[in-house]
Amino acid sequence: MSDSCCCPTEAGSTVCELPAQDFQRPSRTKNTCPVCGMRGKPVQGQTVKALLSVSLREVQDVEYLFCKTQDCPVVYFSPDGEQIFRAEHIRERVYQKEPESDDVFVCYCFRHTVGDIRAASSESRKAILEDINIGINAGQCACDLRNPQGSCCLGNVRGLIKRHDQVMTDMAK
Ligand SMILES: [Zn+2]
Repeated sequence: MSDSCCCPTEAGSTVCELPAQDFQRPSRTKNTCPVCGMRGKPVQGQTVKALLSVSLREVQDVEYLFCKTQDCPVVYFSPDGEQIFRAEHIRERVYQKEPESDDVFVCYCFRHTVGDIRAASSESRKAILEDINIGINAGQCACDLRNPQGSCCLGNVRGLIKRHDQVMTDMAK
């Protein structure tokens, strides 16, 4: 977050003159991971329930958040930051935490791993993307129940392909 004032500069004054109304600095910003401090992405309750490997008696009726920071051990946390579920509490290995591990899924619904993408030719990569798209259009995906992030994997797959295409290009130089 920027410390600089974002008020419009008016009448030649570059200093913010608006009173800081109702502004209290919270000890912890809501929805940020209690371990890494990055903002989490809200996930549906069914995602957390489907992905946890621990007793669902521990699940509270709150909107959990997903932490995608690679080197942070937290996968889900409660909005107040009091409860966390780490990678070892999740039934699947989490792509965001191990984006370079060949045997981790990047597409959980149609079961494409990082290794599949890495080993594929650019033709095969297109075929994998197409397979995912066809599956999505046929309503065969269940990202909310299978993917720890609780949403569609396509952005991750595209990003992974792009990253590896870039590696290939760099190696060819
Ligand atoms: Zn985190």
